[in-house]
Amino acid sequence: MLTPDAPDQPAAITVGDDVLSREDLVGAATAAAERIRGAHTLAVLATPSVETILAIIGGLKAGVTIVPVPPDSGERELAHILNDSGAQAWLDPAPVTSSLPAIPVRRHARSWHTHPEPPDDSVALLLYTSGTTGLPKGVPVTRRAIAAGLDALAQAWDWSADDTLAHGLPLFHVHGLVLGVLGPLRRGSRVIHTVKPTPDGYARAADNGATMFFGVPTVWTRVAADPEAAQSLSSARLLISGSAPLPVPVFEQIAELTGHRIVERYGMTETLITISTRVDGERRPGWVGLPLEGVQTRLRSPEVDSGATDLPHDGETVGDLHIRGPMVASGYLHRPAETAESWLDDGWFATGDVAVIDPDGMHRIVGRASTDLIKCGGFRIGAGEIETVLLGHGAVSEVAVVGIPDDDLGQRIVAYVVGDRVPETELIALVADQLSHHKRPREIRYVDALPRNAMGKVQKKQLLD
Ligand code: ATP
Ligand code: MG
Repeated sequence: MLTPDAPDQPAAITVGDDVLSREDLVGAATAAAERIRGAHTLAVLATPSVETILAIIGGLKAGVTIVPVPPDSGERELAHILNDSGAQAWLDPAPVTSSLPAIPVRRHARSWHTHPEPPDDSVALLLYTSGTTGLPKGVPVTRRAIAAGLDALAQAWDWSADDTLAHGLPLFHVHGLVLGVLGPLRRGSRVIHTVKPTPDGYARAADNGATMFFGVPTVWTRVAADPEAAQSLSSARLLISGSAPLPVPVFEQIAELTGHRIVERYGMTETLITISTRVDGERRPGWVGLPLEGVQTRLRSPEVDSGATDLPHDGETVGDLHIRGPMVASGYLHRPAETAESWLDDGWFATGDVAVIDPDGMHRIVGRASTDLIKCGGFRIGAGEIETVLLGHGAVSEVAVVGIPDDDLGQRIVAYVVGDRVPETELIALVADQLSHHKRPREIRYVDALPRNAMGKVQKKQLLD
């Protein structure tokens, strides 16, 4: 059940000052579904609003594929998503620049008719990747994948109808939409949407009874810097981070201030969430946990023969992370070449991320093979390890380490740093002191801010350009 029909569900959702009961949701979403039944693919400008949520649930009920579009999309991204998705119309409101028609979704319309559930293998959402490495790619996500992904997460996190989730995440990616909107519906739990992603916003949600908090690492970094607000989160049951690497110092500060060791999870648009630490298991800073129920992982090397043997799970060996599981999609829309590259013939999905697995099955994400694995002087060096050391310096508040093409070394390690401008040699010496000598940056570049997207992901490609 992905829609809020089960009568035993207390589900109430709060969006800003607007509170919808289960009856409000069912009535308005059913009315929306009746308006769009028979359509194939509809776009939704995913503003943080009741209308966005009703449009998505209406689409689920009607068996129509919904394409959530980032509300701050530039004209180029908007045109790309509209053309690529083949969306027939907008669910109101449409962006002013678009010539596609708009179908209104009415907050106060109500219908109580019951309709059969769409088939499990129908595509509920067409989600676009974040566009960190190129143009966003469309991923058709079925109802079955969503249900499998949410149930596996609920098990890992002990997520029940007693929980109240709080999140301030955008409603157009897996984290904010699949987990944040559809997760509470499936569990029958409450949710407070559009919490301001600030320490104060989170503290207020805690005062309003939130038990689970979703955040991206940039939000946890802000909370860690505000001890008073952070302490209000002590009353929570679970603090969760994902979408990008959580800096180890932030994990430790939050643990000290709130008494909670953050639960980390790893996922992608193509796979939904597949790896997470468990509420009743070890929560090790810098590690994202164990595969969820039904998920398998392996490490492969592209550089050794044809990569046909698994690399050891010894806690040290870095390899390409491959995943298999019931929540993994089956390909990109309209992109046979990229689909063939990532969805392998033997049924595994190649994530494009590099990782380490330890003998207990814990996973550490080293980063993206394309930008976070630096090939310097014959070594393969993970950018994250260097970033962690630099973040340990009191003057450094944010850092992104990249490999810049270099005639002599292949790639040269360069650290982009936000913080107080201490002499370059001091930071280089810190890395040389704590890690192997060849891992030291050759250059420090101070910047006022790192380029980040709406999920707080650092856009390393932009730094390299
Ligand atoms: P694109 O595929 O368009 O280049 P993207 O990969 O950023 O963009 P998403 O699907 O939103 O698009 O993000 C998935 C990626 O986010 C993963 O491949 C991984 O690199 C990163 N990621 C997600 N969760 C974590 C985590 N807990 N720790 C580290 N990295 C993470
Ligand atoms: Mg990606």
